[in-house]
Amino acid sequence: MQTKRIFSAFAFTLLSILLLLIVASRGSEAARFASGVDASLGQPAPAPTDAGVMPGAKEDVEQTLGEKPDIDIDSWEYIIAGPGHNIGSYAPYTVTIENTAQYFDERAITPLLDFLNAARAAGYTPYIQTAYRSYSTQNYLLNGRASQIAWPDYPTVEDYAEAERYVAPPGESDHQTGLGVDITDRYYSSLDSSKLDQGFMTWLREHCAEYGFILRYPPAKESITGRSELYHFRYVGVEAAEYIMENNLCLEQFVALYE
Ligand SMILES: [Zn+2]
Repeated sequence: MQTKRIFSAFAFTLLSILLLLIVASRGSEAARFASGVDASLGQPAPAPTDAGVMPGAKEDVEQTLGEKPDIDIDSWEYIIAGPGHNIGSYAPYTVTIENTAQYFDERAITPLLDFLNAARAAGYTPYIQTAYRSYSTQNYLLNGRASQIAWPDYPTVEDYAEAERYVAPPGESDHQTGLGVDITDRYYSSLDSSKLDQGFMTWLREHCAEYGFILRYPPAKESITGRSELYHFRYVGVEAAEYIMENNLCLEQFVALYE
């Protein structure tokens, strides 16, 4: 009887230990499984952005600039179209700019008109050279340029590569965002920055941020943006525009601050 009781107590202890071991091993298995899931869903290691801004460089910029605007970087105002940032067939709702045959994103038309009117009030004669360009128009322009290069033959891959040095491929033009605009002078509507009224170009640069616009392709940032255009302005909203212009950033660098 005594032996039997000792034996059953021993068996009970053994069983409890066994049960505990099973539970423990299940637990660690679950933990392993969970960590495996986390690893597969986790963010990839930081890599250089398409704009060529290294994460380290981004932090340096952030440190020297101070408080960045408290904005939602995924909002429509900050969309980037450019090399490595193809926006596909993105097409905003657009409206005509004054009585021209040019169109602009409806959400930013009032700031654009205010900007143009301010330029007139300052004694200038702004001219909208190009504003919104659709994906298909951009495609047409690129095909045209490639055909011109290849003439009288059909364009090759090399001809397209050459054409892309002058015409952005569809999905990669800031004009497709509906927020980019080439502003030149009514009487000197050249797209050669050096031939434009320098006083007017300076005025545009100095006042654009007040209306929510930035210089989209500053010559000093060509290595990042791929272009240099002193007449191309881009709407981003007043808060971001003032920060970008004050700190001599390009849009790619600004957006990278929020990554
Ligand atoms: Zn342009």
